[in-house]
Amino acid sequence: IRYSTEKGWYDARLEPYGPLSLDPATSVLHYAQEIFEGLKAYRHPDGTLACFRPEANAARFNRSAARMAMPDLPEDLFLGAIETLLAHDGDWVPTRADTSLYLRPFMISTDVGLGVNNPSGTYLFVLIASPSGAYFSGGVKPVTVWLCEDYTRAARGGTGAAKFGGNYAASFLAQSQAVEQGCDQVVWLDAVEHRWVEEMGGMNLFFVFGSGENARLLTPELTGTLLPGITRDSLLKLAPELGLPVEEGRISTDQWREAATSGELTEVFACGTAAVITPVSHVKSGEGQFRIGDGTPGPITMRLREELVGLQYGTRPDNHGWVRRFDR
Ligand code: PMP
Repeated sequence: IRYSTEKGWYDARLEPYGPLSLDPATSVLHYAQEIFEGLKAYRHPDGTLACFRPEANAARFNRSAARMAMPDLPEDLFLGAIETLLAHDGDWVPTRADTSLYLRPFMISTDVGLGVNNPSGTYLFVLIASPSGAYFSGGVKPVTVWLCEDYTRAARGGTGAAKFGGNYAASFLAQSQAVEQGCDQVVWLDAVEHRWVEEMGGMNLFFVFGSGENARLLTPELTGTLLPGITRDSLLKLAPELGLPVEEGRISTDQWREAATSGELTEVFACGTAAVITPVSHVKSGEGQFRIGDGTPGPITMRLREELVGLQYGTRPDNHGWVRRFDR
């Protein structure tokens, strides 16, 4: 779907997958004015395809657009694009009930010119899709994380809360540092003191203190520098319904280490559209390494994962109106 200041959104089209042709002076190639979303369509047992809270993705897309001085995309166009694609390409999702179709909506500035501005105010919204593997095959694999003290993902007033391509470009180096350290993922810390835990490369974090009836959850608060994950938001609502109190607050790297060492911190997990809920087993930093619990997926992590996956794949009742079915 194209956009110009005069016409607004126009020219919605379904095209075969293929390269985009852009003038070499197109603004996005130089100044990275690009935003995106990530969501999935799941095959439900009755054969329909459904998305989990796509309206929340549409809303976040527009918050990202506002931060990047890009135009608002009406929710009906965002959801309509998904509906059109699924109506055409839904068979990509195998009928097995444990696979999904990853949907990637994005918007770029298509203005041509080397000035850091948008002289003609033209943009392009595109939705592409890619089949996504079965999350149950091979079980749940815990990840090892690297506490990144050398680089910062986001500062207050910056672009951290937006799903903006540049945030991810700036994270490649830290992610390769994590891999060099033998870790799977980087954990970002705050930009000022480099000690308050924010989020992971593509996931938010939850900490479980205590166990059984005394278990409680903590997730880093939204300070404007981390992405307000839709999975995170869903867990903030689901956990209390399962008898798990949850708080949004702060946790420092020292507190993380001390609580893990004393045994007060029993589980840590990451959450996001791609990985659903993934346990964190080991944490590494310049000061050494420590383990969470016994390093295996904990019961609360697995309980929340089961609940969320059940909602997404339509095997548990949707009491929140989070599931949107698409007819095809
Ligand atoms: N943080 C970052 C940086 C991400 O890229 C993602 C993935 N969108 C998340 C958190 C998790 O967000 P969601 O639950 O909406 O997928």
